[in-house]
Order: sequence, then C-alpha cells, then structure tokens
Amino acid sequence: MADSRPALPPLREVIARHGLNASKALGQNFLLDEQLLDRIAAIPGPLDGQPAFEVGPGPGGLTRAILRAGAKLVAVERDGRCLPALAELQEAFPGQLRVISGDAMQVDAHAEAGTGAHIIANLPYNVGTPLLVGWLSADWSPLPWWATLTLMFQMEVAERIVAKPGTDHYGRLAVLSQWRSDARIAMKVHRSAFTPPPKVMSAVVHITPKSAPEGVILKHLERLTAAAFGQRRKMLRQSLKRLPGALDALATLAIDPQRRAETVTVEEFVEIARILSA
Ligand code: SAM
Repeated sequence: MADSRPALPPLREVIARHGLNASKALGQNFLLDEQLLDRIAAIPGPLDGQPAFEVGPGPGGLTRAILRAGAKLVAVERDGRCLPALAELQEAFPGQLRVISGDAMQVDAHAEAGTGAHIIANLPYNVGTPLLVGWLSADWSPLPWWATLTLMFQMEVAERIVAKPGTDHYGRLAVLSQWRSDARIAMKVHRSAFTPPPKVMSAVVHITPKSAPEGVILKHLERLTAAAFGQRRKMLRQSLKRLPGALDALATLAIDPQRRAETVTVEEFVEIARILSA
C-alpha cells in the first residue's frame, strides 16, 4: 500500500463547504465513513500503481480511499458542483487523479482508464445496471480490458448478479455476470451508512473475469436468455420454440424441454449457446 496519507478535511466539512446537497435525480447517497471506504477500496486487492476507474466520485469519499491505496485513478462525475472538491484531492495526491466532467454512460472508460484498470464505484442507482451490462459485454479475448469490478448496488440488484439457479433472483443478469466471471457479494452495507440513507440496503459486488468458454458468441447467449427468461414460468419447449435451433440443441444436450429457465444452470446455457453459435 502507498505510504502517502495526506491529512484531509472530514467529508462532512467538504460537503458543507461546497454546498453539495444530495440530489435525488443524480442518485446521490454519499459514504462518509473513511474506514468503511478503505475497506471497499481494499476489495480489488493491492492497487498501488494500478490503473483504476471510478464512476460518480461525488464529494470524493471513495475516491480518497482509492487514492490512499495508491491507484492511478480516472473518475467521471456528472455533477459540476463536485469538481472543486475533487480538485482538492488532485492537489493532495499529485499525479494520481484525473477527473472527467461528464456522463459515465457517454465516456469510453477503456480509452480513458487504460487496459487493466480496476473499476470501483458506489454507483448511482439509475445507471448502475446499464454500466455493468456494458462492462460485462466488452470484448473478451481472452479477458476483458478491465481487471476487476468492485461496485456498490442496491441489494436487489446485487442479488440478481450473484443469483444461483432455482432462486427468484436468477435471470439474465446472473447468467451474463457469471458465464465468464466469478461474481460474489463482498460486503453488505446498511442504509444508515449513507448520507442521505437510501430506502433499501446495499451491497458491494466483486467481479473477477475468467477466460471465456470457447465457441460461444455473446449475442447468441443473450438471445437465448432473453427468450428463456422472457417467459420464465413457462417450459423451455414453449419459451424457446421461436429461437431457431434451440429445441434441437436441448435434444442434443439431453436437457429436458419441460424444465423452466430458472432451473437451467449457467453452464447449461453456455452449452446451448455454443450450439447456437456454431
Ligand atoms: N462516490 C461517492 C460516494 O461514495 O460517496 C458518491 C456516490 S453517489 C451514490 C453517485 C454519484 O454518481 C454522485 O456523485 C452522482 O452525481 C454521480 N452520477 C450520477 N449519474 C452519473 C452519470 N451518469 N455519470 C457520472 N456520474 C454520475
């Protein structure tokens, strides 16, 4: 871990001094407990000298923790009110932080943060899932451009990411998150840890990429899971009947067409998608 731990003003003071009243529209629920923030920044593993990318630094709580861990960080913030507070962090950690003023949905994170970057964020709830889907859908040959994802979500989204077959939360997001990554809940975070507290609990999900299974085209896996989970209570023979080749693939793999999507494992979806991709 890097040695430099400059004395920084308390986050509450930063928020008050810069008038950062939380905006609901921007999904602003700030974390102010520096010990908690250091624990989140430790989840990806050693960051000293590593490239990192943060969405929505806000007043800079998680940003400080990532910088204390020694990362070279690019952070994208949509709320211009936060920029003066982030400029103070740039001064406190010379050469370590670059801030982009803009919408993370429009920013090319790979081009900005570089290959091998750790993506770490307390995500705004309204763009969290689309950003995750974008990162999980990256080119993967044999690994994606990013090294790890460490992301705070509302608990319900976190549960959908790590869900196992046979559970209510299991669906398209679980398959997309797990077919070529390990995804786990690294930390549950009580709503009272945020200012202002959101209505629901949150969790930090940690995602580590693996080599993608060979011969599977993402587009085919997506079409398959869209069809299967589009009618999740129906038997596969019904939900997949309009997807060319899918019922034959079930027969080839001896997967019972009377099963429902929520019982099909990630590995089975991958096997079906491999046949559809051929
Ligand atoms: N990182 C801070 C923390 O942990 O205390 C703030 C997290 S807060 C949940 C989400 C942050 O994302 C806010 O600062 C908000 O302004 C910012 N934000 C919202 N939508 C954004 C977008 N589309 N692109 C970039 N930042 C966004």
